[in-house]
Amino acid sequence: MESDTIAAISTPVGEGAISIVRLSGPEAIQIASTLFKGVNLNEVTSHTIHYGNIVDPTTVDIADEVMVSVMRAPKTFTCEDVVEINCHGGVVAVNRILQLVLSHGARLADPGEFTKRAFLNGRIDLSQAEAVMDVIRAKTDEAMNVALNQLDGKLSRLIKDLRSTLIETIAHVEVNIDYPEYDDVEEMSHEMMRTKTKYVHSEIKKLLDIAHQGKIFREGIKTAIVGRPNVGKSSLLNSLLQEEKAIVTNIPGTTRDIIEEYVKVRGIPLKLIDTAGIRDTQDVVEKIGVERSQKLIKEVDLVLFMLNNNEPITSADRLIFESLRETNYIVIINKTDLDTHIELDTVKKLAKGKPVITTSIIQDEGIEALEMALYELFFSGEVMTNDATFVSNVRHIQLLQDAKKALEDAMEALELNIPLDMVQIDVTRTWEFLGEIIGDTASESLIDQLFSQFCLGK
Ligand code: GDP
Repeated sequence: MESDTIAAISTPVGEGAISIVRLSGPEAIQIASTLFKGVNLNEVTSHTIHYGNIVDPTTVDIADEVMVSVMRAPKTFTCEDVVEINCHGGVVAVNRILQLVLSHGARLADPGEFTKRAFLNGRIDLSQAEAVMDVIRAKTDEAMNVALNQLDGKLSRLIKDLRSTLIETIAHVEVNIDYPEYDDVEEMSHEMMRTKTKYVHSEIKKLLDIAHQGKIFREGIKTAIVGRPNVGKSSLLNSLLQEEKAIVTNIPGTTRDIIEEYVKVRGIPLKLIDTAGIRDTQDVVEKIGVERSQKLIKEVDLVLFMLNNNEPITSADRLIFESLRETNYIVIINKTDLDTHIELDTVKKLAKGKPVITTSIIQDEGIEALEMALYELFFSGEVMTNDATFVSNVRHIQLLQDAKKALEDAMEALELNIPLDMVQIDVTRTWEFLGEIIGDTASESLIDQLFSQFCLGK
């Protein structure tokens, strides 16, 4: 494919030891060698790295001291010639170098254009291209593993298998219709079609079932700790944050006082919401506390609801129990080191079968039981294995659902003994939906839109 040479800064702009300017395209090596003082890059072996300086050919000023990697097509990320100029971190050096390559024949890459070229040149399929983006954005180790699995092509292989099963049946029906005189081609029967569609349907369903877990690993379980002031929310938060060294990041939200903190509990990533709100309970009157809790409860996947062992249940606690009806939650009765004034039976009744854990955060007791409860809540009965093919992408999940629906239409038609050439229409639609996941039947505008979501330089 005829294409121009693109360039972009491929590392985050900001403080850092190293920054990289990446070039890809037919002129990549030529452009770099014009600017590079060191060995002649046109003559070096592919996939080698070279020390030297980037020099502005007009002023002869040194832009920076660099290491340059030269990778010739086709064994590169884009399947084109690729040059990576490793320069000093910070914004100055890298911008100087980018300006120089742009003024010597390269064009600034569109967001995601490197990955788009990898896709268009057939090196990766669409779901793998999206996985590149997921790897960049992964916030936890598990999210990273899910994305890497996808990058490795596991999902693609599975989808391709399913598609080939479908296309075989479609072809079979076509042959039966178009060449009825071919006696040696067995007639595709309703029974055969039923077996094939059933198989594909169950595989799609499996993928959708684990998609939920994939989403959890990608984004973390949105969790809120709620309860009246002084029950020990902030102590629990600190204990969770301390115990796990694996805090991945703190993300200040759009509003001043919403902060999310990531913490892993037995490998389950929790995205703790409104942690600033928890820490700032000094002047919160009871009413505001309850309202804030009710609002939070609506926004999260999981609530850790704290009660005080040392006090009877209050009307505020009951209000919160009321609002929890539609949510996954765990009740924590804290301060078991103090005298018991709470009625455990009442709490259990209000909790309606949800786990009730007792803790003394101050004495570091009960945290383990809490962790176990969390684990069981999310993975009850289901064994998590690292090599499950997760589907973590919203677009993929939607397409799988569409495919499943189309296949169900086909299965229904089969039950009604509708002629196979009619049933085939729905089977073909299923095949097309699955194809969109890996980009086989994806339209150009979809592809453009997907790649433009990438950060610049990827
Ligand atoms: P929050 O307002 O719900 O965030 O509660 P805090 O975490 O700030 O705790 C309120 C007070 O209860 C603090 O003085 C904590 O030290 C204390 N506290 C927290 N957990 C326990 C516990 O398990 N036992 C006892 N006795 N005190 C606790």
